[in-house]
Amino acid sequence: MPVRHLSFLVAILGCAAGERKGVGDSGAASHVSTSSSPMNQVAESYVKLVLAVGKHDPDYVDAYYGPPEWKAEADSATIPLGDIEQRAGALIAQLGADPGSASGARADTADMARLRHAYLHKQLEAMVARVKMLQGTKLSFDDEARALYDAPPPKNTEEHFQEVIARLDKMLPGSGPVPARYVAYRSQFVIPPAKVDTVFKTAIAACKERTARHITLPAGESFVVEYVKDKPWSGYNWYKGNYHSVIQVNTSLPIYIDRAVDLACHEGYPGHHVYNALLEKSLVRDRGWQEFSVYPLFSPQSLLAEGSANYGIEVAFPGDEKVKFAKSVLLPLAGLDTAGADAYFKALAIRNQLNYARNEAARGLINNTMSRDKARRWLEKYCLMNEETAEKSLSFIKKYRSYVINYNYGADLVGHYVERNGGTARNPQKRWDVFRRLLSSEIIPADLQGK
Ligand SMILES: [Zn+2]
Repeated sequence: MPVRHLSFLVAILGCAAGERKGVGDSGAASHVSTSSSPMNQVAESYVKLVLAVGKHDPDYVDAYYGPPEWKAEADSATIPLGDIEQRAGALIAQLGADPGSASGARADTADMARLRHAYLHKQLEAMVARVKMLQGTKLSFDDEARALYDAPPPKNTEEHFQEVIARLDKMLPGSGPVPARYVAYRSQFVIPPAKVDTVFKTAIAACKERTARHITLPAGESFVVEYVKDKPWSGYNWYKGNYHSVIQVNTSLPIYIDRAVDLACHEGYPGHHVYNALLEKSLVRDRGWQEFSVYPLFSPQSLLAEGSANYGIEVAFPGDEKVKFAKSVLLPLAGLDTAGADAYFKALAIRNQLNYARNEAARGLINNTMSRDKARRWLEKYCLMNEETAEKSLSFIKKYRSYVINYNYGADLVGHYVERNGGTARNPQKRWDVFRRLLSSEIIPADLQGK
């Protein structure tokens, strides 16, 4: 954790921030099953391999709150990448094609056993791909996305984005190029820096209240918020275990009023914090499935994590509820004029149809069909960024590569899955029910796609 960047720390529920990511306090360890079923043995080996990859790739282990002795074991020796690859391959072979062959857990329903088997299989396959990449294997954008996130990302043409820009052109005030007009228009909705903490905490409280009406949150769940600078992302959830998260918000760039709700939902309720806490409760503690005590960032689980965190915004604030909340609570709190809020949120809804444009920049950069300059111009033109935000976006793409698909394609897949299972906008209670089940299970991207 970049402590040097902290400007201030807000303790929401009295828990202190951890020292750095990936090292939970392992409070769950005392609750874990000691069962040594074949599947639990595969899970233990998988967790240890994830920790071993983390020795080579500092971004790989996003969270770990399993037994501390496993972490100590991983820290004590570095396993060569070639050996990790070979061991992961052996585990895949041990799992076999039949979910029943290694399940060993009689208490599990057949469906849960199938999901667990498929989850471990996909996570291990992604690990092999990441380890190959760390050893120099180069994959195209689409091959990488498939190998790491188990999803083939859609492609969009430039004409698609031009058509969206044309619609924005008609509704934005002024004349001239749309990106500059959009940036100027949006600037009236920047939260004054002195108000960011109050606005963000108020947004979190509203997100939590809406979520808690539909999802029983584990007792004692909590998080702290930290404000940081100079990061390639706008917010980050570091899950520490024991139902506790550290949420960091990047204040290097202006924070717009709509982002307060988006970030509070995405990082907190019903997003990452809730997802991680429910997995810890339902799978790690109640079932003793240790594979969920570790979270490898470059894996199919990220498509579920980012997709559910983004789709969760719409679940918590369906239809025009976000603009209503902004007008009645957040804008006055920030000292901003509410007069243009309806038009602004309409423009944002159109702007959101451009969010796949970043995928195209990432595809171009990774496939070497776009230079960095060309990608920056593309981001400015079709993601409506200024030079500074486009540079930030380029550093994000450089670091996380095809991970960008998890935000938009992941959210679309989660949304389609929820709707396919009856959770439509007309049936909000059902939508929460399906969404809650998704957050508490080891569903894989292929399940979202209905395969
Ligand atoms: Zn996220």
